Amino acid sequence: MDIHFLSKETAYIDAGVNLGLICSGEKSILIDAGIEVSVAKKVLKLINEKNLKLSGLILTHAHADHTGGAAYIKNSLNIPVISSFQEKPFIEHPHLEPFYLFGGATPLKTMENKFLQAPPCSVDICLEPGKQDLLGFAVDVIPLPGHTPGQIGIAYEGTLYLADALFAPEILAKHGLPYFVDIGAVLHTLGKLSESSYDFYVPSHGSVVENPVELTLVNKKFLEELLDMVLGHLKEPHTTTELLGKILREKNITINNPSSFYLMQASLQALLSYLVNTGKINVVYCDNLLCWHRNQS
Ligand SMILES: [Zn+2]
Repeated sequence: MDIHFLSKETAYIDAGVNLGLICSGEKSILIDAGIEVSVAKKVLKLINEKNLKLSGLILTHAHADHTGGAAYIKNSLNIPVISSFQEKPFIEHPHLEPFYLFGGATPLKTMENKFLQAPPCSVDICLEPGKQDLLGFAVDVIPLPGHTPGQIGIAYEGTLYLADALFAPEILAKHGLPYFVDIGAVLHTLGKLSESSYDFYVPSHGSVVENPVELTLVNKKFLEELLDMVLGHLKEPHTTTELLGKILREKNITINNPSSFYLMQASLQALLSYLVNTGKINVVYCDNLLCWHRNQS
């Protein structure tokens, strides 16, 4: 793990996920906190070694690989934690994630793990989108919804920290069915990013890129292929679970724990609601089971 400077005032830390670090003189703001306390401790040590002083911690979204170290950092340095309005409740009440993934019922105990449930952390400042002064830093808060409802990117001095708005091709290939909550929002976010012009784009998972166009196209094509795959299977009605089984088989993915199953089911449901809401498929009932079926027209 190290601090990699992209310019005098922007850097990232390879801490399992890429964390952002923006600097102004000796002051700095950290963007995301890593998955757990041991990671956060190393990050704080690195920042200290560079003689930088943290003024705040921005959390791009509520997922545990980004927020697991947040409470430790906040309590160690007594600095404000900052997020969007939409992500705040999930950061402050992290049990909500396994709860909603399990369909709004008490989840399996095994789903209360460090990948789905970070330690709770109170959020002190909620960000509105747009250019603003944040603790003395001239940042631009860029809404990047789709992966989560209120995910934000932070632009500062020519660098855009992307959170999980773009995945590297190897991450897409490895996961097969990455986490999405809103496909329409993902497509809108990809369109917006492809037209943007920053010097550096820092995804949380993958390498820094200077031109986002190719990466946005890879992500868009990946989603379109997934939608086509779903539509292909829905010439016949399928339940969600049947359809998930077929897609995982086609993508050669093996699931062996409830967390992975429910994360992938949620992504599939995002694809299904998008296809219903855009008139491509519909809900039918077969033997009292809710099924999805492609519209004939
Ligand atoms: Zn995420």
